Amino acid sequence: MKRAASDIPATARRVRRLAPKRISIPDIADEIRAVLDFVALEDTVSCMLVCKVWRQEMLRRHPQLAVIGKLNSYQRKTLHHVKGYRVRNVIAMVDRKCAICSDPWRGGVNSAFGIPAHPACVRDRLVLVRHLPPHVPVQMMLSSIPNQDIDTYRYGVHTFKAIWKCAHDAIPRSWTLEGFMEDSADAIHAVNEARRLASEERMRMAAERRRVQEEQQRQWADDFKTAAAEARAPLRTIVGLKRLLPPGLIRRARVDSASETARRGLFLTRHFHGVPQSLWSTAFDAFDDATAIAVKRYADEIEAVLWPMAFAPGTDPRPWREFELVRHSDVAVIRTASQRGLDPARALRAILTLGPRRSALLLHAVCRDASGDEGFEGRIADIRRLGLCTAAGDFLSHCDFESGVRSYAAAKEFGGDGCYERWGDACFRWPTVAGGVAMPPPREPVPAPPRRFDLSSRPPKHRGTLWSTSKMKPSGKPHRAQQLP
Ligand SMILES: [Zn+2]
Repeated sequence: MKRAASDIPATARRVRRLAPKRISIPDIADEIRAVLDFVALEDTVSCMLVCKVWRQEMLRRHPQLAVIGKLNSYQRKTLHHVKGYRVRNVIAMVDRKCAICSDPWRGGVNSAFGIPAHPACVRDRLVLVRHLPPHVPVQMMLSSIPNQDIDTYRYGVHTFKAIWKCAHDAIPRSWTLEGFMEDSADAIHAVNEARRLASEERMRMAAERRRVQEEQQRQWADDFKTAAAEARAPLRTIVGLKRLLPPGLIRRARVDSASETARRGLFLTRHFHGVPQSLWSTAFDAFDDATAIAVKRYADEIEAVLWPMAFAPGTDPRPWREFELVRHSDVAVIRTASQRGLDPARALRAILTLGPRRSALLLHAVCRDASGDEGFEGRIADIRRLGLCTAAGDFLSHCDFESGVRSYAAAKEFGGDGCYERWGDACFRWPTVAGGVAMPPPREPVPAPPRRFDLSSRPPKHRGTLWSTSKMKPSGKPHRAQQLP
């Protein structure tokens, strides 16, 4: 039979709980006590924050530190900055007073000068190092006395070093500029004396350098005068030469040698009239009379785009006078031709026979794989004979020239002059058999369907990209539908 809970005596129901055994905090170990013997006075506050036992040990050693218990958290966190008059500073902190103005201050300790003070009170007693007179040895001073970084906010944020200017009760006198200048008067005097000697030495060397330069300039001017007199030039000085020449040309004349400068200056004064500015480098590069005279004489008769070719060193400019209506693309083609060993004037003469509708792309293609002057002229003659208009010529530039010309000739035989307008690019894919008999001509172009405003009938967007990357660009919409049977 189960017994009711009320039948159990109260003493029997009580569970016996033992109180946890108190572990007594052991005394500070002897090793740690030995270590604390070596702790500097500045670090005692940090040691007191480690644990209660350490705190008690430090208070046993330094009973005066008991006042730390009266500091607030700001003051305790910055207590390690305290230096200088430590006792006075700690008293000020306990009293919650500024060490400078004695007004209430509950904040921390200034890290540079080790005093509990308002930042504004400290700042009022500082002077920026950049405002000090030149006889103050700044590097020596900054390594000797405390200094603080000050931010200025004019034209952006700039940080400057600042030092305590005048003596004050809050910090030792030797930490101030006033004290430093008095205490280190002898060292400062020695530094300034060394500085003065170095400066005098620098000035003496600069004067010597200046004297040598002036002597060289005087000698140069004398040489120039002598050379100009010998050459019977209408000038005697470089200044006179500058007055006679345009500003861009005087730089070409001026060299280290005075006699050479006189010779070049005289040359330029004789020849620069009538020479276009874009031809100065051509005419006056070699300071050669023949080149300058040729440039002056033929520049008006030769097209400007041909000047670099016509007046190239060792080139006779006269053959270039006959060409007219030359384009920049033609010049590019004949440059390629001359690089491939062709005669550029002869190539240009052949190119101009094609008339104004010549295709620059085709000419480039012909020029790239031309073999000799005759081969180039033969291909130009083929182009002229077939009357390859601009669009057809552009397409031919992408094909093999010989087979393209043969195919186009066959297409022209069937379709007449308008074959390209009729069949488009298919003219260059005309299948021919040996014997010149052509296969049936391509179909008539299919008329384009009427345009509808239907989004689904639009071509896919990538189509243009494919065409643009293809070598065979579409030269007309109807021609693309053309296929050979
Ligand atoms: Zn203050």
